[in-house]
Amino acid sequence: MTVAYLGLGANLGDARQTLKDAVVCLAQQHTITVLAKSSLYRTAPIDAGGDDYFNCVVKVDTTLPVRHLLALCHKIEHQFGRERPFRNAPRTLDLDILLYGDQSIDEADLIVPHPRLIERAFALVPLVEIDAALIIPLHGRADTLLAGVADQRIEKVRSHCQCPMLDALAAGNGTPAKGRCE
Ligand code: ADP
Ligand code: MG
Repeated sequence: MTVAYLGLGANLGDARQTLKDAVVCLAQQHTITVLAKSSLYRTAPIDAGGDDYFNCVVKVDTTLPVRHLLALCHKIEHQFGRERPFRNAPRTLDLDILLYGDQSIDEADLIVPHPRLIERAFALVPLVEIDAALIIPLHGRADTLLAGVADQRIEKVRSHCQCPMLDALAAGNGTPAKGRCE
């Protein structure tokens, strides 16, 4: 089993609902256990036009080797209608591997830690929410890197959803509880 962190983003269609559905989709995989989910964030598009993004990060435990996890991410993106008409195009769902255990991978089609993790508030801020003291291979403690993305617009989305499953994931304890679900 390996602990991994996945970054989810969307700015096309019902992006907010898509992220919730995608987290449920991940949780339903027999190869994945969702350990924690960040709040939902609204963020400005970077190097791209289009609407604001919704983003979140999930911490998972997985039996999948990293390449199988990447293939699963692509499969789920496809199921949610992802198209790639051009680089940084608006997307129904983007599912990236931010971290996979403590591994550093630098291959043509797979780079871990994700190359833009420490440059993008939409990835780093939700990651720090889940685990501020996390060590990012090659870069150090996650929360010490926040200053580098402080100029990027990001706001936590407030929600009054009472969905017990997502709420339990947000709490990171696997036990359904009343409260806020983002
Ligand atoms: P973006 O870079 O904006 O997320 P895409 O989702 O279209 O764009 O991904 C482009 C390529 O990035 C994918 O085909 C994938 O092989 C590659 N890639 C490299 N490293 C990673 C990673 N850590 N997680 C997800 N995709 C990655
Ligand atoms: Mg991607």
